[in-house]
Amino acid sequence: MEKTYKIAVVNGDGVGAEIVPAGVSVLDAAADKFGFKLEKEEFPFGAGYYKEHGKFMTDNALETLREFDAIFFGAVGLPEIDDTLPARDYTFKVRTSFQQYINYRPVKLFSGVDSPLRYKTEEDIDFVVIRENNEGEFVQSGKILHAEEPSGVAIDTSIFTRFGIERVAHYSFKLARKRNKKVTNVTKSNTLISSLAYWDQVIAEVAQEYPDVTYEKMYIDNASASFVLRPEIFDVILTTNLFGDILSDLGGAIMGSLGLGGSGNINPEKEFPSMFEPIHGSAPDIAGKNIANPIGQIWSAAIMLEHLGEIEAAKDIMAGIEHTTAKGNLTKDLMGTATTTEVADSVVEFIRATN
Ligand code: ATP
Ligand code: MG
Repeated sequence: MEKTYKIAVVNGDGVGAEIVPAGVSVLDAAADKFGFKLEKEEFPFGAGYYKEHGKFMTDNALETLREFDAIFFGAVGLPEIDDTLPARDYTFKVRTSFQQYINYRPVKLFSGVDSPLRYKTEEDIDFVVIRENNEGEFVQSGKILHAEEPSGVAIDTSIFTRFGIERVAHYSFKLARKRNKKVTNVTKSNTLISSLAYWDQVIAEVAQEYPDVTYEKMYIDNASASFVLRPEIFDVILTTNLFGDILSDLGGAIMGSLGLGGSGNINPEKEFPSMFEPIHGSAPDIAGKNIANPIGQIWSAAIMLEHLGEIEAAKDIMAGIEHTTAKGNLTKDLMGTATTTEVADSVVEFIRATN
């Protein structure tokens, strides 16, 4: 019997309407070739939906999405909508409600792509950022006091729990075992002396259970410089919600473009659906022109299939991306002239043409 996966497709806003269908065309080709079925259903959630309905998704959206094996997502946000809303009302809700406590964000230099780091090679730039995705600095529990007065005060509280730190740490060490056996904890416990000191303490405890994995601690300032100067030292980076957010954009930059980065918001236990999306936003400045780079979305498709257990199909998509970039089939952000659809079609052709 053919395996069937139920996939919720959420284009979102901006370039989502172009890159998500591009990613879906690649998924369909992979499903045909590797003999599984994708039962897809589209949902119109996002800032566009908000403009019409005053909310980012239907009231029962989470119950509906719950029934799917995975969510294939573009990005939310439009320039005319207050930009604290999409994160709060869509992304944050899905990530936390479905216990997607891992944000898996690989960084890798594809052949044929120029990194701004001129002297670094494909071997040098190949690591994964694991961003804690459910707590930390993004719990949104702050407030602004006396905003109208000269003595105004604003507070944001970060929340870290042993439960939350342990589970992201275990995931990272297990992942390192499948890679190059090194975990770098990126922290700032020398100044955030409560929350991140506790973060370090719990991670160091977990590290002891993985004596075969090298464990290192590095401060975020040093880690940022090291992304640029010596990315070859990294294998698995384990970091907090805020630092992971920033470092993954930097990761996108050293790969050559933000448009290249794929990611997964993962519930490793598969108790709830996981969500797969490019690391970039809705890029409204280039939307509707068929010029957005679809590779971040296509890579997210590969991460999704890997999560679902279709390992060979995931590898084939990655080979298709590599084949496409290697022959110089690049979009404008990478100084090329190819369109969104040309890049996606090239990956589809690779999948269909090879065995
Ligand atoms: P968010 O807050 O949702 O992360 P953002 O404000 O960080 O969004 P992005 O939408 O990620 O912004 O866009 C940042 C820049 O990167 C823009 O100039 C955009 O055009 C460019 N960019 C983002 N994604 C792509 C892509 N897929 N292809 C080409 N350029 C892109
Ligand atoms: Mg961003």
